[in-house]
Amino acid sequence: MSTCVNALIDLSALRHNLARVCVFAPNSRICAMVKANAYGHGLVRVAQALDRADEFGVTRLEEALALRDAGIQLPILVMDGFRDEHDVQVMSRLELTPVVYQWDQVQMLERLSLEKPLSVWLYLDTGMHRLGLSADEMPLAYEALSRSNAVRPPFGFMTHFSDAGDKNHPKTLAQQRLFETTIVWPGVRSLANSPALVAWPETQMDWVRPGILLYGASPFPDQTGSDLGLRPVMTLSTTLTSICPVQPGETVGYGDTWVCSEPTRIGVAAIGYGDGYPRRTRNGAPVLVGGVMCTLAGRVSMDLITIDLRAHPQARIGDPVVLWGEGLPAEKLAAYADTIPYELFCQITQRVHVHYIG
Ligand SMILES: *Cc1c(COP(=O)(O)O)cnc(C)c1O
Repeated sequence: MSTCVNALIDLSALRHNLARVCVFAPNSRICAMVKANAYGHGLVRVAQALDRADEFGVTRLEEALALRDAGIQLPILVMDGFRDEHDVQVMSRLELTPVVYQWDQVQMLERLSLEKPLSVWLYLDTGMHRLGLSADEMPLAYEALSRSNAVRPPFGFMTHFSDAGDKNHPKTLAQQRLFETTIVWPGVRSLANSPALVAWPETQMDWVRPGILLYGASPFPDQTGSDLGLRPVMTLSTTLTSICPVQPGETVGYGDTWVCSEPTRIGVAAIGYGDGYPRRTRNGAPVLVGGVMCTLAGRVSMDLITIDLRAHPQARIGDPVVLWGEGLPAEKLAAYADTIPYELFCQITQRVHVHYIG
């Protein structure tokens, strides 16, 4: 059989992580964030497995349509809201909940009248300065929507934190204060993403919006998912396809970035940036070969990586190679690739075979 790269998605780990989120935020309802193809894990399969969530959060309307097409009936929050009247009609028909984050969306809802008025969440910008109505605009938006026949009160209110992953950053509580002094109306409140719901429990409120925690990775630089009682959901693996002995002074891979200092067996594994393993991963990054921790040696190619096998003299062609997941936290690899697990998960490519268990 020809070699291929596999992403094994453990749905029982996913459900375990949802249960962990419930322990962290016992009094909040859970909007499970499944945007970007469920962080690379497969939108529909993940949503089906997370049937204990209270709501799903996506970014784009098309993601919400895919969930409804698959028969998902839970409420769906659409972060990117709507662009035009057609979007609004579709959202009304499919009972989707748009986030309203800018003034022209408010105006559109003011003009429209819908047979089935929408539930909406109003997004307050409390300092991320990316999306959201300002604290000055919010009372006007509230007034306008209260008069609109296109929406159904009570509205939900949300904001998003820019620095919740930093457990000492004063900005998180400042953002929360601005939210609380601005939002003086009845309606549910949602502030916390994954780092906030763990590190800043006072921000949990009515709804939490976990993403990365569900997929088993940590949003904090100094902790892994397993430190938080989570289980990795995606395990990316391939096989060792070749072994190349090298001698002192010889180099490995493009650009000669790894230089041999003693006789070394270099393992060659069938994975590369063409599969989504980041090219910028540095020498020394952890790679699990046949259950033994080894290290990356040489630059990542499109289809292959090269591995220093000195830690594992018994390694043989055909051994399984794990890049991240069970036995090797994605957080550990991310640190060697100057990125975060979110990006590792999202960027696996079409060539990877995705399988589901549990
Ligand atoms: C993606 C997203 C989240 C989830 O973030 P995590 O850090 O993965 O928990 C929450 N809220 C909003 C608005 C988002 O866009």
